[in-house]
Amino acid sequence: MFVCQNQPCGARWAPDEVEIHNEGQGPIFRCPLCGARNHLRASQARDGTITYKQISREQAGAGKAGTSKAGTDRTGTDKAGTGKGHGAQRQRRGG
Ligand SMILES: [Zn+2]
Repeated sequence: MFVCQNQPCGARWAPDEVEIHNEGQGPIFRCPLCGARNHLRASQARDGTITYKQISREQAGAGKAGTSKAGTDRTGTDKAGTGKGHGAQRQRRGG
């Protein structure tokens, strides 16, 4: 069962009620009711049967938005400063 990802629509369709196309970015179907495109993912069974699973909009668009992996900042690492004394910390400006 597919569900139209167009929020106000949300119509549900059996796989044989819709036409599945591939426009170059993977299989999609157009909602017969509102015409919105919905992304699918094809998966092939061992017997060769191809079944389509619906993927959510977020999943379809994943890859663009950054995964904030690059979090190795200098701030917060206390290691570098240990044993040297706390000179820098005590400095006051305009005291
Ligand atoms: Zn729809």
